[in-house]
Amino acid sequence: MLPISILLRIAAIKCPLPHFPRDELGWNGTTSGKFTIKSAYSIRCSVDEGPNEDIWRIIMRYKGTQLQQIFLWMVCCDKIMTNSERVRRHFSNDARCGLCGADIEDVDHVLRRCPQAYLTWKELIRDEKIDEFLKLDIKAWVKCNLTNPRMFAKVPIDWELMFSGVCWYIWKSRNAVVFRNEDGVSQRSILEQARAWLVTIVAAGMSQAQPR
Ligand SMILES: [Zn+2]
Repeated sequence: MLPISILLRIAAIKCPLPHFPRDELGWNGTTSGKFTIKSAYSIRCSVDEGPNEDIWRIIMRYKGTQLQQIFLWMVCCDKIMTNSERVRRHFSNDARCGLCGADIEDVDHVLRRCPQAYLTWKELIRDEKIDEFLKLDIKAWVKCNLTNPRMFAKVPIDWELMFSGVCWYIWKSRNAVVFRNEDGVSQRSILEQARAWLVTIVAAGMSQAQPR
């Protein structure tokens, strides 16, 4: 026998009547029940989970292209399709890096520790800062590079864009090798692609192109 409080609660639930509208799925973030980006962003920003949670607001202000903006967002959500993420989603049972054979290919590995990524950053980051650059938590790493260009970079001009471009081309290069069996890519080609992309973005006026 159920407790009386539960029975009363069940008795208080009205059965659907024929002239009532049908039940529908609705978004809880708006009074209309309709999903909007604005309401989702507002909910996301209201959740204070730690010192780096302002990263979402920082990514919203990012001045590069939307493609790189979404990529940065996914990096910080730990949702890019690394092999460890594929294992977590049961798409695969092999979390190893397809480039260097390291046991776990996660965001940290693919964007910072894999040899081609590491050598790329070595070209761009001041020698005395490289250890700190590699040790930061991923959200703190993205946040720091988007907001504080003088923290790590040898050349801080437009570092926000250069940083995001290098992350993107490291990831693209990894995908070219893993999915299209292209030859291994060098840090030189990653840097060339990122620099060419940066010139295009600056020329298009998407950057203030001022030393910061
Ligand atoms: Zn690797």
